[in-house]
Amino acid sequence: MTEEIRLQVRKNHENKYKEGYPLLSKDVLTNPESIYKEGSLFQLIDTDGNFIGRGYYGLQNKGIGWILTHKEKEVIDHLFFQRKIAAAINKRSPFYHREDTTAFRVFNGEGDGIGGLTIDYYGEYYLINWYSFGIYQFQEEILSALNLLIQPKGIYEKKRFDEKGQYVEDDDFATGTRADFPLVVKENGVSIEVNLNDGAMTGVFLDQREVRKKLRDKYAMGKTLLNTFSYTGVFSVFAALGGAKHTTSVDLAKRSVELTRAQFLANGIDPETQEIRVEDVFNFFDYGVKHELKYDIVVLDPPSFARSKKHTFSAKKDYTALLKSAIDLTEENGAIIASTNAATFDMKTFKNFVSKAFKEKKLNFKILEENSLPKDFPTHPSFPEGDYLKVLFIQKQASL
Ligand code: SAH
Repeated sequence: MTEEIRLQVRKNHENKYKEGYPLLSKDVLTNPESIYKEGSLFQLIDTDGNFIGRGYYGLQNKGIGWILTHKEKEVIDHLFFQRKIAAAINKRSPFYHREDTTAFRVFNGEGDGIGGLTIDYYGEYYLINWYSFGIYQFQEEILSALNLLIQPKGIYEKKRFDEKGQYVEDDDFATGTRADFPLVVKENGVSIEVNLNDGAMTGVFLDQREVRKKLRDKYAMGKTLLNTFSYTGVFSVFAALGGAKHTTSVDLAKRSVELTRAQFLANGIDPETQEIRVEDVFNFFDYGVKHELKYDIVVLDPPSFARSKKHTFSAKKDYTALLKSAIDLTEENGAIIASTNAATFDMKTFKNFVSKAFKEKKLNFKILEENSLPKDFPTHPSFPEGDYLKVLFIQKQASL
């Protein structure tokens, strides 16, 4: 290990870090110009030079590094990584014992003690997300901890640290045996096809597991569903399996058709009985209004930011407008499942978007369900930003 750099936190930020805030940013330091490099360790000290914590330097869009320990004597070595990963694996032991669910998060960044790193399990294969070149410097320690603790069949990795903090296109295979893709995993008994070596996304977002289950078990029976920003159509598959009368999936990406068809087929549903459209959701909403289309359930799960040819969408700025469009296409007493993974606003703000949208439409509504991250995505008590997922099941009611 190289020598630790000492970084001094400004007086007005001291308390926050002493209380456990894990993310380091440049503006809190008195000496940000110190020379450090990705993956090097630092010691955070207060104005009087007392130890606050120890972490690694790794540039991410969120900050410049993560604090790993508040114990002055704790060394960051291969045993440190082993301890953290072992603890995370132990916590997931109920998941490892499930037969109906074979995909889940094993390690959730700062929530499991190491910011900038996530590890997911997909039916005996593992997928590591490296969120900075800094954390990637510990690849050897982390891979050997995984190999020692659980003997994975194979490990894949996503390097999410190009200049813009985005995914670096690469062969994502890291070690072990290569999987045959698509790999079929189970989620609450449903088959989901995933590919761990095909771009930034895998085919499913594991954090929505409980939402999909609720949709299938409590809402779908006999209903029509519109799934917007549908990607591989997993919400539609769950709805169909829950007895939905019909599903319509809308996504801009051409590949979503083939991927969605495959997800239906993997579950014994004839894709021809469902509708899958390649279209800009915003155009589809216009079309839907013009043709007076109405659905019992509308799923809204947009990316936090998206740019299409005609539209730029930012969840923070445009979610209210998106909801208003969804309201137009929802039957009275029908439900909108509104979801966002934007870390830039909290549940309270999200609920305000909902109130505003219904108010402007002069309609009543009722919140039926509220979801946030599931158990395998633990968050850090001092880092509420990490609790990013917000999902509301909202019933559209009669006029005010
Ligand atoms: N709801 C999905 C995940 C959505 S990922 C699921 O649960 O699996 C975001 C998707 O939004 C991507 O597939 C992307 O192609 C799509 N997308 C982004 N902008 C869009 C737009 N304007 N119209 C339609 N789809 C869009």
